[in-house]
Amino acid sequence: MRAYIPSYQLITPPSLGEALDVLTAEPGIWRPFAGGTDLMVLLEAGKLPHKNYLNIWNIKELRGIEVTASHVALGALTTYTEVQQEKVLREEFPMLCQAASETGGLAIQNRGTLGGNIVNASPAADSPPALLAYDAEVELVSLKGARWVAYHGFHTGYKQMIIRPDELLTRIRLPRRAEKVQHYYRKVGTRKAQAISKICFAGTALVREEKIEDLRIALGSIAPVPLRCVKTEDALRGSALNQSAIDRAMTVLANEIVPIDDIRSTSNYRHQVSLNLLEDFLQQLSA
Ligand SMILES: Cc1cc2nc3c(=O)[nH]c(=O)nc-3n(C[C@H](O)[C@H](O)[C@H](O)COP(=O)(O)OP(=O)(O)OC[C@H]3O[C@@H](n4cnc5c(N)ncnc54)[C@H](O)[C@@H]3O)c2cc1C
Repeated sequence: MRAYIPSYQLITPPSLGEALDVLTAEPGIWRPFAGGTDLMVLLEAGKLPHKNYLNIWNIKELRGIEVTASHVALGALTTYTEVQQEKVLREEFPMLCQAASETGGLAIQNRGTLGGNIVNASPAADSPPALLAYDAEVELVSLKGARWVAYHGFHTGYKQMIIRPDELLTRIRLPRRAEKVQHYYRKVGTRKAQAISKICFAGTALVREEKIEDLRIALGSIAPVPLRCVKTEDALRGSALNQSAIDRAMTVLANEIVPIDDIRSTSNYRHQVSLNLLEDFLQQLSA
């Protein structure tokens, strides 16, 4: 059943300061509304219990992409289309661009935002594995001040996060790397487009003289939160890139993940495909 629109309130503060005033005056009462691509689905289905929304779409402090020598910082309202259009992201963070290009269709890519994808906190979201593998940080701002926190650790349980009701997620920061790393991103869904992930795999690696100097691996749609696979990373870091390292890493990953079972896929399928993707990632590095 559709929601009854007059029972909802939406206000549009013109600036970040005024938005934070509202969130501070009545914490938990006003919920941010960015592109609305997650929220409108719930509204249409009559499943949006929260009644008061703070439209943040016009807040210019939440827009723009800043590039410095050490990092790229994206405003929380950066859309998937904007991600794909940014040259430095295509060159240095291609997994984020790939995730953006495989998120929904063009309409969703024009309206859906990176900040919304993070705070919506779906374990099946496609950007989080790339953000984890790129060691992203997020900026949380309230009237009390701003804090940068590692994205790894931002989600504490299913749909639970460390963001407070008086805070907005304002920016996402990606550290730039001097070394030439390899990137591997795979979204596995029922279809090639407009699919919600059954598994999403993101990996980066720095390989020198057939030795894995550094690597990061993250999985989506596997656990209640997007997962950084630190045990598997530790098992591979510093090791030679050969078949025995690949076999060892697959054993570690098999023990590190406890895949979820849901309407989109089974735990067994997710378990097997995660291992297949890890093997493919590592074999491509050696190739
Ligand atoms: C047809 C369709 C296809 C889709 N396909 C995909 C897909 O393939 N992959 C995928 O990952 N997602 C997909 N989505 C989900 C959705 O488009 C994304 O999660 C999108 O990034 C959400 O961003 P938004 O700005 O629209 O968020 P909104 O719907 O506006 O908000 C989502 C949540 O985040 C909160 N929020 C938003 N911005 C902030 C902020 N700056 N600070 C604090 N809280 C905030 C809101 O309060 C709300 O709880 C799809 C959705 C639809 C309708």
